[in-house]
Amino acid sequence: MLLRLRSSIRDPESEVLRREAAARGYEVRFLDPKRTLVELVRPAGARPPEPSDRVAFEDLAFVAAVLEAGEAPELHERAGRESTVVRIGEAAFGGPYVSLVAGPCAVETEARLLEIARAVRAAGATVLRGGAFKPRTSPYSFRGLGAEGLRFLARARAETGLAVVTEVLDPRDVEQVAAVADAIQIGSRSMSNGALLSEVGRLRKPVVLKRGLAATVKELLQAAEHVLSLGNEQVVLCERGVRGFDGTTRNLLDLGAVAWLKRATHLPVIVDPSHAAGRPELVAPLAKAGLAAGADGLIVEVHPEPAEARSDGRQAISAAEFMRIARCAAELARLERRRLVLPSGVETLAETCP
Ligand code: PEP
Ligand code: MN
Repeated sequence: MLLRLRSSIRDPESEVLRREAAARGYEVRFLDPKRTLVELVRPAGARPPEPSDRVAFEDLAFVAAVLEAGEAPELHERAGRESTVVRIGEAAFGGPYVSLVAGPCAVETEARLLEIARAVRAAGATVLRGGAFKPRTSPYSFRGLGAEGLRFLARARAETGLAVVTEVLDPRDVEQVAAVADAIQIGSRSMSNGALLSEVGRLRKPVVLKRGLAATVKELLQAAEHVLSLGNEQVVLCERGVRGFDGTTRNLLDLGAVAWLKRATHLPVIVDPSHAAGRPELVAPLAKAGLAAGADGLIVEVHPEPAEARSDGRQAISAAEFMRIARCAAELARLERRRLVLPSGVETLAETCP
C-alpha cells in the first residue's frame, strides 16, 4: 500500500503510523528524504490484507491520500473481478444480463396494482416496483399503505409471477418488508442511513440502493460497502439523478457516473429515468441514454391514470410507452452483445426500437 502524507511527518506521528501499521501486519518504509511518501510492506507470514486497511490509514489526520491499496481492495471494487450478477426472481442484472423493473410509484389499491403488474409484465418487466412505505417531502402527502400495501404486493406476485421490489424506510420495518419483498429498495433519502444499511446488510436478499439526492459517487459506493461488509453481496446500485441548479428536469441524470461505476465496481448499476426526468416525455430518452452508458437495467414508474396517482403522477408513463422502452432496451442490449431478460411466456418482444 502507498500513502501520501500531508507534510513531512514528525516523530510522534511516525510512531502512530508504525503502531497502526504493525497492528495490521505492515512495516513502514519511507520512500523520500522529506518523508512524505510511505510504502507499507507486508513481511512474509503477515496476516492477509483486509478491505478495512485502506480506511484505517485514510482516517489518520496526517495522511493526505492512500495512493494505492495494493491487495486490500474494498468489497465493492472491481479490482479485476468479474461482474456480479444479481438475480431478483426471473430478472438478472449485470454481466450479460439487462432487466427491467416497472410499476407505480406507490401501491394504491389492489386492483390498480394488479392492472399495472399485468401490463408491465406483458411489456417486458420481470420485477414489479411499488412503494408501501413512501418517503415524502411533506409529512402531509400520502405516505403509503404500509402493511396493507405489502399484502397487495404479495398478491400481485402470486397472480403474475413477477418479483417485487419495495422500499423500506425504517430499520424496524425491515423484517416485515423482507418477508414479502424479493428485493429491498433503499431510497435516495435513506442512502446515508447507517442503521438501515446495516439492517439490510444482515439480510441475504438483493438490495436496490439509490444514490442520495446530493451524494457523491464515492458516498454511494461507501453506502454499498456498508451492506457488503455485513455479508450481503447482492447490491444493485441505482443512479436516479442528483440535485442540479436547473429545474428543467427534476434531477440531473449523471450518466458519467453510470459509465464510471461500471468500471470501478463489479456491482450491477441500473438507471431510474423517471425520477431523473420528472416528466413523462423525457423518460424514454433518458432510459435509452442510461442503457447506452452501460446500465444493467432500468426502474421505471408506470401508471395508467397519472391524474389519479397518489404520488409522482407527473412523471408516470403508460404501459404502452414502457413497452416502447423495453423494445429499445432489447435492441440496445443486443448491440452490446447482452440480453434483455424477459418474463417467462413473453418471448417475442419486437427487437426494434420505435
Ligand atoms: C421512488 O422510487 O419512488 C423514490 C421515492 O425514489 P427516490 O428515493 O430515488 O427519490
Ligand atoms: Mn416515485
